[in-house]
Amino acid sequence: MKVDAITTEPPKWGVKYEDIDVDENLPIKLKPVYTGICGTDRGIVSGSLPFAYAPHGRQKLILGHECLAKVIEAEDNDLGIKTGDYVVPIVRRPGKCVNCLIGRSDNCSDGDKHEAGITGLNGFMRSEFQDYPQNLVKVEDPDIASIAVLTEPLKNVKKAFEMFDTVSKKSVFTDANGAYDEKRAIIIGTGSEAFLYGLASRDYGFQTYMTNRHPETESKLRMIERPNITFYDYTKDTSVEKNGFDLAVDTSGDPATIFRFIRKMNNNGIVILFGTNGRAPASTFDGSDIDYIIERNITILGSVDGSRIHYERALQDLTRWNYQYGDLISNMITSRVKPDNTDIFLHKQPGEIKTVIGWS
Ligand code: NAP
Ligand code: ZN
Repeated sequence: MKVDAITTEPPKWGVKYEDIDVDENLPIKLKPVYTGICGTDRGIVSGSLPFAYAPHGRQKLILGHECLAKVIEAEDNDLGIKTGDYVVPIVRRPGKCVNCLIGRSDNCSDGDKHEAGITGLNGFMRSEFQDYPQNLVKVEDPDIASIAVLTEPLKNVKKAFEMFDTVSKKSVFTDANGAYDEKRAIIIGTGSEAFLYGLASRDYGFQTYMTNRHPETESKLRMIERPNITFYDYTKDTSVEKNGFDLAVDTSGDPATIFRFIRKMNNNGIVILFGTNGRAPASTFDGSDIDYIIERNITILGSVDGSRIHYERALQDLTRWNYQYGDLISNMITSRVKPDNTDIFLHKQPGEIKTVIGWS
């Protein structure tokens, strides 16, 4: 099949919009509606993510892992996916380890999985693709079709909070009312993942703060404040830090920043490392940092990706948030561009939260 696609040749620099032949013969035929762009796509295109590679025997990789698609033809299937349905394709495809075999390739034990648009499997930034029904998650509420492209980034957040639920059982983590209202969460960074973490943290009831090393624009501040999240620039005013934090989520990937915030954690605190930035400068920590972590029972965990269950939970959240917050969620999509506008892969747009490519 010939498709118009956004391609790159990892690990080389570069991105093209071109027609290319792909060899697929799978039971469900789909057309993307929107595909989202994130730092990973930009990292692959700039040649700075050495783990990206093209499908076996190919030089070119079709980009794209954040997608909302429409089914254009479907063979009968047990999951009831039919022509006309909106679906979100799952990015990771299982290998043969025990976690992959039970549907949790997000916890792959041997690294033998593939990721669409990233590692060894063509992605969704193309005029058409084909897939198996088990790799598709149906969007039940057609009202969220315009925001369901956020399902993929949000599923990472759902997985990370699942990790939080597991690890927080190590002691009584809730407040004296058995809830989280008196607990404090800090989200480091103000990008799209940070924003989704902020909303999820508010769903738990945490007093939620977002921070960056610079001030934020008025329009972003208004969006952050709507779900009662407080933004502060940690290089200027640190007064909100005096009561410490119980949960920290880092989306910056910057070691010095992460250690700065680890030193703000309260007893039994949980730090989730999520952001990755291979280009961040090196930083050091010393014996007193280690003492701080140990004496306070602080848990530091890494969390990557998510599985079908997290896509499903993400869709439920988007449905609810769409009702609860209205245009706040659609305003997260700060620009919609055409597939031939490949310049958007070269740098972040001013004021960008999420840029998406429209395929219709
Ligand atoms: P993004 O928009 O680039 O978010 C990164 C945020 O961190 C930006 O707001 C950035 O601010 C901020 N930041 C950078 N350095 C900082 C510092 N020293 N102090 C405070 N804030 C700082 O990217 P995203 O799409 O939201 O993704 C966030 C991160 O998660 C990326 O590193 C991405 O690769 C990673 N990721 C991880 C997973 C996973 O499964 N673990 C999945 C998807 C993405 P400025 O923009 O102002 O610099
Ligand atoms: Zn595996």
